[in-house]
Amino acid sequence: MSKVLELTKELIKKPSVTPLDEGCQDLIASRLKKLGFEINHLPFGEVSNLWATFGEGEKTLTLLGHTDVVPTGPVEKWTNGPFEPTERDGLLYGRGAADMKGSVAAFVVAAEEFCQKNPKPNGRLSIMLTSDEEGPAKDGVKKVIKHLTDQGEKIDWCLVGEPTAERKLGDVVKIGRRGSINGVIKVQGIQGHAAYPHNAENPIHTSSKALNEIVALQWPDETGKFPDSILQVSNINSGTGAHNVIPGELSLKLNVRYSPSISPQTVIDAVEGILQKYKLNFNSEWEDSGSPFLTTSTTLINSVIESISSVTGINEVNQSTEGGTSDGRFIAPTGSEVVEVGPLNASIHKIDEAVSIQELEMLPDIYLKVITKLLT
Ligand SMILES: [Zn+2]
Repeated sequence: MSKVLELTKELIKKPSVTPLDEGCQDLIASRLKKLGFEINHLPFGEVSNLWATFGEGEKTLTLLGHTDVVPTGPVEKWTNGPFEPTERDGLLYGRGAADMKGSVAAFVVAAEEFCQKNPKPNGRLSIMLTSDEEGPAKDGVKKVIKHLTDQGEKIDWCLVGEPTAERKLGDVVKIGRRGSINGVIKVQGIQGHAAYPHNAENPIHTSSKALNEIVALQWPDETGKFPDSILQVSNINSGTGAHNVIPGELSLKLNVRYSPSISPQTVIDAVEGILQKYKLNFNSEWEDSGSPFLTTSTTLINSVIESISSVTGINEVNQSTEGGTSDGRFIAPTGSEVVEVGPLNASIHKIDEAVSIQELEMLPDIYLKVITKLLT
């Protein structure tokens, strides 16, 4: 069995449902320690984090990943248990196989080969892991990066192992991610009897024109690298359940995945402007859950693309910014170049999550080539 397959299986056996780590990071740290890595465990709250570094030099390349996985869903729906790694028809099944214990295992195998060949690299190789990527992401990379920045640490290049491929390994990498803002709006009315509407004020009726304008909100991307930013209403609630009661409140939850062409304030001003225009009595709460980023410098991007071509033979790599957020959002604001490359994402978070064994076995080679290009 290949080293990467073996280690991926060992990690899958540990039921590290977010925010648990279940010994994944200890296992990895013990392998890195043998190579001469300096190991720092940085727990915050119930979250385990690892920061391990090898070598010295001006520049730092960080391999960033997570050891937590999403919940399994109904265990009886899995063909084999979610934490029993199983090979079937060229695939390795198990929770985290693709997102992202396979990539984390590939980091370790790539680091082992690199460090043995390059005991004194031209720069520093580091591995950063958290067990809080799939959860609220408050005690994970966000806190680790603050701690490291306070200590004067600086990451120049950050390679994230999230599953980015769509049809085959290497076809898509991410060079940026959209930001995400959530809003909760409550429009007040006056509750009353449906037979006496003049004694009440129905917030469903008073909000309807404003809602029509809110759902049409979108902002074009001007960078040429992102989709347009389109507002989505994700929840709308009002009413007591009774036919004869005019409700006293309407509540609305909304989300915008936004490009760097706009800011969270752009969204807030637009939505609140519409509510004010219709003279609605409302209050609002906003949470910016991640800023957008875009890597424009090409050192890391080019190393990744060249490494992919030489390992997989793919010459047209799509440099995408689509999809959800990732922990790259916490590293990019420090000025680091951030690129994400990992296995197929088709099965992630699903029942019977799986990774192609053939592609899993190519992954350490891609990572090793990137490390070698940047640190030798
Ligand atoms: Zn992930």
